Amino acid sequence: MGSALEFKDRRCRLSRVLCLLSAIALASFGSSDDPLMGFSPEAAKQQLATEEKFDSLIVQSDLPIWLKQFSAKPHHVGSPYGLKNAEYALSLFKQWGFDAEIERFYVLFPSPKERVLEMAGYRAKLQEPALKEDSTSRAPGGLQPYNAYSPDGDVTAKLVYVNYGMPKDYEVLESEGISVKGKIVISRYGGGWRGIKPKVAAEHGAIGCLIYSDPRDDGFYRGDVYPVGGYRNENGVQRGSIADMPLFPGDPLTPGEGASKEAKRLALKDAPTIAKIPTLPISYGDALPLLKTLRGPVAPDDWRGALPITYHIGPGDTDVHLKLKFNWQTVEARDVIAKVKGSELPDEWIIRGNHYDGWVLGAEDPLSGAVALMEEAKGIGGLLKTGWRPKRTMIYCLWDGEEPGLLGSTEWVETHAEELSKKAVAYLNTDSIGRGFFNVGGSHSLEKFVNQVERYVIDPETHLTIAERARAQKLVGASAADRKELRAKPDMPIGALGSGSDFSSFLQHIGIASFDMGFGGEGGGGVYHSTYDSYDWYTRFADPKLQYGFTTAQVGARIMTRLADADVLPFEFSNLAETIDKYAKELPKLVDTMRDETAEKNREILDGTLKATFDPLLPKAMPKIKDAVPTVDFTVLTKAVERLLSSAKKYSAVAGKAKASVALDEALMQTERSLLGSGLPRRPWYRHAIYAPGFYTGYGVKTLPAIREALEERNWSEATQQIPLVAATLDHLADAIEKATAIAARM
Ligand SMILES: [Zn+2]
Repeated sequence: MGSALEFKDRRCRLSRVLCLLSAIALASFGSSDDPLMGFSPEAAKQQLATEEKFDSLIVQSDLPIWLKQFSAKPHHVGSPYGLKNAEYALSLFKQWGFDAEIERFYVLFPSPKERVLEMAGYRAKLQEPALKEDSTSRAPGGLQPYNAYSPDGDVTAKLVYVNYGMPKDYEVLESEGISVKGKIVISRYGGGWRGIKPKVAAEHGAIGCLIYSDPRDDGFYRGDVYPVGGYRNENGVQRGSIADMPLFPGDPLTPGEGASKEAKRLALKDAPTIAKIPTLPISYGDALPLLKTLRGPVAPDDWRGALPITYHIGPGDTDVHLKLKFNWQTVEARDVIAKVKGSELPDEWIIRGNHYDGWVLGAEDPLSGAVALMEEAKGIGGLLKTGWRPKRTMIYCLWDGEEPGLLGSTEWVETHAEELSKKAVAYLNTDSIGRGFFNVGGSHSLEKFVNQVERYVIDPETHLTIAERARAQKLVGASAADRKELRAKPDMPIGALGSGSDFSSFLQHIGIASFDMGFGGEGGGGVYHSTYDSYDWYTRFADPKLQYGFTTAQVGARIMTRLADADVLPFEFSNLAETIDKYAKELPKLVDTMRDETAEKNREILDGTLKATFDPLLPKAMPKIKDAVPTVDFTVLTKAVERLLSSAKKYSAVAGKAKASVALDEALMQTERSLLGSGLPRRPWYRHAIYAPGFYTGYGVKTLPAIREALEERNWSEATQQIPLVAATLDHLADAIEKATAIAARM
């Protein structure tokens, strides 16, 4: 099978003109040397005809109409307008021929009751005023800026600036002899997921946490601010959850169990994912007077933002008062679930989802993705009316309560875990969509498949395939070594998934092969989780005609219908095995790097030559000597990966000739499930051995997390314990692939 890139290179040798033509030729998609994965040549023709029919049934102009309607009023979980949107979507799904219903859960959802932030002579505004230039950003009844699952609190203390508030920032503070104990920290957004900031601050003894959007990362330093440009203005605040989702997502009171009315609930005081210290997000307008009061050392270069002040670390000489109270109510989360029963294999499920709840008006996040899903479902409904039926069951889901903590999707997965484990083939997620490049992350057993789909969809602006455009963008940004690797591989590597949207429970809790995909990278950012994420903002700065939402529907439909109608499920394991091999080889390298760095640092401390991090005039705290890094034995892991590589090759050799059978589908579906272990240390909800959100990164992924995190935390005995466990899980995967190979070869 020739890749699109080889195809292009071949032509480019002829002449520049032909090279240009080849771009146009590529736009007319798949060639005969690119047979559709999982389809016989006859069935492939049928499938391509179905896709063409689908394209003729969808209409771009639907998307802005729905976007405007769905974003007209605040629609957070439990809100009246959220219910209206759910009921409207439900009626559309029914009209299109889906068997649809609203499934309800009862989740803990605190909302702000009292918010005070003040110091002598100053009181923070904590408001996002309506703009006369944008009538679509007026949001009576919307949630005021807050961080969901902050505890109530009333604290008065001096302020310390902690940069992004990530663990490595505290190493800098420590080396400067500055403690946050008994202080309120002020951190800027960025550098890692927001929920990590209060978590790490509390671990270091802080009693309160403020998080502000610095204009260097998110504001006027990036571009003109709203409403002149698309970037965050001085009043814009990023709301967001700070539940400890790296422990488990979903309703904080019902871990591992669906939040039905009758479910057993933890007492609020025992809920482990609620943040430990009162935390409030603020605008840079509100942060500036506070930052001005800071004294102490000048912040290092890479800690400085773009506000017109000299950034000091603190503490300040002024007491700051932070008082927060929340309504700790239980609200109804409503998932809209719409099914089309498979005509031949009703017990094999292909699942598609996007959330529809927003923090306020949520035009970009999440409605740009939700309306794309709706258009896709409308097209599927159109196909149904022509007499087409999917072989396998398709389920379209609009999730509620994603913003506070993936509530709707997690509770649904926990409720149906047993059935999903038996029946789910794959889950496809989208969230916010913008102009730009196609981006996808997920299970590497479907990497080849999704790469092929990308070669069949046209980018609306460049008229290249979305695969070509994504490849060009990745090549531009890549290092020389990565570029070489990218060029050598027929498939674009897809990213590993951490967290941050509704795929988490499917993939990491119950082992369903999953993707998260979208477009973006060319719009101006700047309204994320604020009131100004409005219809006007979206249609001026993100994707004026929602062309990329429309294209998302085309990609989604191809993935969904190919998975639903393939003769043999298009799983492929060479890319997966090679990716795991790459992850596994990173681990001994990590140990070597840690060993060298530790030895070097210890030597400098002993020699008294440790270089000042910054401000050499201030007295330093004496850094501690760290234990030397021991030898870690990875032999069993290496052996397991070798076996996996060879099992994967054997499946690839027979996959093309395999005949359709329920037994083969079953075996293929179970491959991702075989990657579930007994759970990560101290957070057993996360059971996937390859992918997890990092305990100290939040959304950011850790691959082979049980081993990698133990190493990073210098917990050598835990790393040594985890290596054989992960190796055993890889053996389970090899077993599962070998089982599928035996079935495929038999026919
Ligand atoms: Zn979202």
